[in-house]
Amino acid sequence: MPFSQPTVIRSRRVVLPDGERPADVLIRDGKIAGTAPHGSLTAGEGDLADLGDTALMPGLVDTHVHVNEPGRTEWEGFATATRAAAAGGVTTIVDMPLNSVPPTTTVDGLAVKRRAAERQAWVDLGFWGGAVPGNVADLEPLYRQGVFGFKSFLAPSGVDEFPHVEAAGLEAALAEQARIGALAIIHAEDPSVLAAAPQQPGVHYRDFLASRPAGAEAAAVTRLLDTARRTGARVHVLHVSSAAVLPLLRQAREDGVRVTAETCPHYLTLAAEQVPDGGTAFKCCPPIRDESNRDGLWEALANGEFTAVVSDHSPSTPDLKLLPEYGGSGDFAAAWGGIASLQLGLPAVWTEARRRGHVLADVVRWMSSGPAGLVGLTGTKGAIAAGHDADLVAFDPDDGFAVRASGLHHRNPVTPYAGRTLTGVVRTTWLRGREVDLAARPFGRQLVRPHSRPATPSDRV
Ligand SMILES: [Zn+2]
Repeated sequence: MPFSQPTVIRSRRVVLPDGERPADVLIRDGKIAGTAPHGSLTAGEGDLADLGDTALMPGLVDTHVHVNEPGRTEWEGFATATRAAAAGGVTTIVDMPLNSVPPTTTVDGLAVKRRAAERQAWVDLGFWGGAVPGNVADLEPLYRQGVFGFKSFLAPSGVDEFPHVEAAGLEAALAEQARIGALAIIHAEDPSVLAAAPQQPGVHYRDFLASRPAGAEAAAVTRLLDTARRTGARVHVLHVSSAAVLPLLRQAREDGVRVTAETCPHYLTLAAEQVPDGGTAFKCCPPIRDESNRDGLWEALANGEFTAVVSDHSPSTPDLKLLPEYGGSGDFAAAWGGIASLQLGLPAVWTEARRRGHVLADVVRWMSSGPAGLVGLTGTKGAIAAGHDADLVAFDPDDGFAVRASGLHHRNPVTPYAGRTLTGVVRTTWLRGREVDLAARPFGRQLVRPHSRPATPSDRV
């Protein structure tokens, strides 16, 4: 393993903050010490990793991952989720506050999660808190403990222990988050629009799509923006699937509302027209919509309207997905809603981005520096620049592979990408300068929000 801890990584395609060029990257004590012209640095044998034409990029920062441990560890756990992350070039994840039991809605709940994650993380790991009905008093203590912000649902979340907020609850949560300076991250679908939509069970995707109309997203975002305007809270719209919300976000920004948004690889690369009958691996909420909607998302992405492209990795056991290939009914209405493909986000997005004329620097902005900035990790994560952690990925943008579930590291390797050919192969992932070797031991660290004052040290593994 000669390159397990190189001091110089050389590539003819280094993706730097100002674009891609040939360069040498100098690493010292797990951090990027600087960059220099290609071939100009000297290093001892075994200390130089020359990638040739394979690109060197900052590791991805995935701020939307549902790990589910403890409590639903059979769905997904810290070890398997972070192995999948590392294999996919993701070097930092931020875990969502729900689907684990307990959810991360109290300081005690956070402590339980942190203990569960100890010595299991193959990549660096931070935590979101949750804002649910009745826990306004818990938000400030949680924030001091280092959560990166608070997630709320405007419609039922799918799990009973994480209820959604009604109008008054949203108002209270956003007012408190404005006061403490936290970022509110919101699942925006409107429950009354959902309740009025036709609910037709069965294996046909078009029926499921009709049950989660674009109007539910637009109505919820409208309500969210009104509340953000009144309270002054900083809000982030999670997993935008409908292009119909984009004009609302644009108008609100023009009005001075502090709002950002993200979308996900599956909304950018899959489309309703491709979902087979019973293809519940494709089920997520909000849903994957049609091809023309997808073009609208790409247009917004190209215009810089999305801060981040993140996975929303949300697995369950195959039986809950009701997958026909596992003997399930394939009923979209009853299946668990969640896409599980953390490991595939980079090649999936790159495949489609390249086809649409984008370059690797765009992907880095969407999947590394953008999400790092969202959670205040600019300066530490998400860029190849002096002083940043040497979280790096060697990515061959010209090679390709066929997706097989057996090659995936997440606990229940179900994926809607099965059988697709994707462009771009992750060769090596380095975390703080050290190669992540899935046959050795994990050395990921638990992160806290910068400037927080946690009782636990930030480098507890
Ligand atoms: Zn999610």
